[in-house]
Amino acid sequence: THFGFEQVAIDQKESLVRQVFDNVADSYDVMNDLMSGGLHRYWKDYLLEVSSVESMASAVRRTNGDLRILDVAGGTGDVAFRFVNAAGCVERAKSSGEDPVSVTVCDINHEMLRVGDVRARKRFGNSLLDDSRGLRFMQGNAQALEFEDNSFDLYTIAFGLRNVTDVDMALREANRVLKPGGRFICLEFSQVPNELLRTIYDTYSFHVIPAMGQIVAQDRESYQYLVESIRRFSNQDELVTRMKNAGFQVSRYTNLTGGIVALHEGWKS
Ligand code: SAM
Repeated sequence: THFGFEQVAIDQKESLVRQVFDNVADSYDVMNDLMSGGLHRYWKDYLLEVSSVESMASAVRRTNGDLRILDVAGGTGDVAFRFVNAAGCVERAKSSGEDPVSVTVCDINHEMLRVGDVRARKRFGNSLLDDSRGLRFMQGNAQALEFEDNSFDLYTIAFGLRNVTDVDMALREANRVLKPGGRFICLEFSQVPNELLRTIYDTYSFHVIPAMGQIVAQDRESYQYLVESIRRFSNQDELVTRMKNAGFQVSRYTNLTGGIVALHEGWKS
């Protein structure tokens, strides 16, 4: 047997996804490096670069404003850690007081958050999470966020949107919690237009990734699911349309690594 959404009712997708990430949480970071040959680091670095978090953070520190960042499906914290580093939250946490820059990681899976919390405390110390509140981990569903309207300047979701049961509902929620003028950025696997690259990539993902999952994490099925979920997800243009339907005025994308991954951006008007 293998996971396949055709055989899985929509209301079961959530528990299936939960089970997959429960299974992979402990080996998630190692597997990410192995499966992508380290490329996920480059994709996440690119997200950081286009987010302008570094310059936005220094602007709010100068002007006594605030900057609120929400990383949904943030898992073990990879994207959020880049934000706290770039925004100077780690230095801030060493002095006293609440940080005007806050990075909130929201994920549906408690195990992923637990791994993230342990990583964050090891890397940055406790004060970033406990005293400055520069970084927080919260459990929550992308489809029904427990935040007020117009709360965040930046909403990011990296390799998470395709796992959500109702993608359009999650996009509407992203739009709702963003402040007017706020920005949405999504990193997600997408479709490779070049035929040769696509053939190589398909062979790799359908054969090599489940085998790696078996060897490294003794879990072939979870990694089979991950590969299948990529194939079932919207292509670049379809996602732009869905973003527009969810209320994002300007929506556009950039292909990374030949379209293996796409970075979509949208602004709330
Ligand atoms: N953003 C992290 C990264 O790039 O390393 C983690 C990505 S991981 C492939 C996908 C994450 O989406 C998992 O941590 C999973 O628990 C989370 N997830 C799945 N469905 C979700 C939902 N409905 N709401 C919030 N998070 C969800």
